[in-house]
Amino acid sequence: MRQTQLFTKTLREAPANEVAKNAQLLIRGGYIFKNMAGAYSFLPLGLQVVENINAIIREEMDAIGGQEMHMPSLQDAALWKQSDRWSDEAVDVWFKTELKAGGEIGLAWTHEEVLTDIMTHYVSSYKDLPKFPYQIQTKFRNEMRAKSGIMRTREFWMKDLYSFCATEEQHNEFYEACADAYMRIFKRLGIGQQTYKTFASGGAFTKFSHEFQTLAEAGEDVVYVSEEKNVAVNEEVLAEADLAELGVSKDELEKRKSIEVGNIFSLGTKFSEALGLTFKNDAGEDVPVIMGSYGIGPARAMGTVVDLLADEKGIVWPAAIAPYRVHLVGLNTDDAAVRDWADGIYTALTKRGVTVLYDDRDARPGEKFADSDLLGMPYRVVASRKGKESGRFEVVERATGEMHELTEDELFNKFSE
Ligand code: ATP
Ligand code: MG
Repeated sequence: MRQTQLFTKTLREAPANEVAKNAQLLIRGGYIFKNMAGAYSFLPLGLQVVENINAIIREEMDAIGGQEMHMPSLQDAALWKQSDRWSDEAVDVWFKTELKAGGEIGLAWTHEEVLTDIMTHYVSSYKDLPKFPYQIQTKFRNEMRAKSGIMRTREFWMKDLYSFCATEEQHNEFYEACADAYMRIFKRLGIGQQTYKTFASGGAFTKFSHEFQTLAEAGEDVVYVSEEKNVAVNEEVLAEADLAELGVSKDELEKRKSIEVGNIFSLGTKFSEALGLTFKNDAGEDVPVIMGSYGIGPARAMGTVVDLLADEKGIVWPAAIAPYRVHLVGLNTDDAAVRDWADGIYTALTKRGVTVLYDDRDARPGEKFADSDLLGMPYRVVASRKGKESGRFEVVERATGEMHELTEDELFNKFSE
């Protein structure tokens, strides 16, 4: 992608009303645009990051048996009345509206009811189970606070997977497999080190559900962590639980701020009973399906990566989710020979399958370097007059600042890894 072709531009300053660091950097970089509090547009560069995150999530969900689908945001009140989750007293984040044709509808803030209803048409025997449908879809929540940039918005993507099992053993096996998949996802996103599978309250069968909490000063949540024992609990569990059964004592736990990047939950038969999702077991009896729900917010994860890995100069993307692997910066390109040389390496790298953002703008070197640091691609490759004379490109790794001067062949070798 040539930067002169991108409709977005970098900004020197973030809007004064933007308080969150993740959104400040992403707005300045032209990754996102703030439409209003709690609602952002994802611009071409930002959408590419989300797509990269989603690709990782899809790979890991498919690997444990997930099947992708897509459900509507528009919700039928009648369905939610069956599970007692339609009233504003029961659920305080509903957006509701009237249909012109008459009748009230809601905008989905989660999808247990919808999918449970769908599954009643496809599940009838234990042979139909287990099944693990999921989607990456837009949720709407009338959140009171929206001050954490893209980490808490009123309209957001969620990967939500739901498990449908015949037995508790089947359920527990999938629950553990999904927890492991979540840790792999967060590791691949570059936040594995700081992310804890955290005991939270609620959940059928066991006393707990689990939140995936990433330690971060910008977090809205609080967790209690023993780094040594690799155990974390949330505030409710700290207040209620017998910690000995978790292998820690209170004084071993350190209070830390954190971001909930994911959440997994055993639902038991709450929704299957309410909506009549049953199957015939091997004795021929009708029994309710055992369910679980498993969420991740791709944009919240993106904000977390920005928040944790950025330095004073700007964003630092891990290679796995960077919109482009290389930021090619052309200098002295008013000289046609240098410009041809820079264009040549852009074409050659692209042909070899390396994703390249090419700064072909007519701008001063200082501005180009500052923008390159702000945008945060894993590698900056500089094509300049001086480089052309020596036949070498300056290559700088964004995360470490490590610099090398490489010939064209060395460059191809490096990026064909
Ligand atoms: P929170 O406690 O932060 O309000 P939640 O427990 O309501 O979140 P879930 O319903 O479990 O969240 O949603 C699953 C995942 O979706 C969360 O772990 C988070 O990554 C993401 N998510 C939830 N709410 C938002 C939001 N308002 N904006 C962006 N992502 C969100
Ligand atoms: Mg939560």
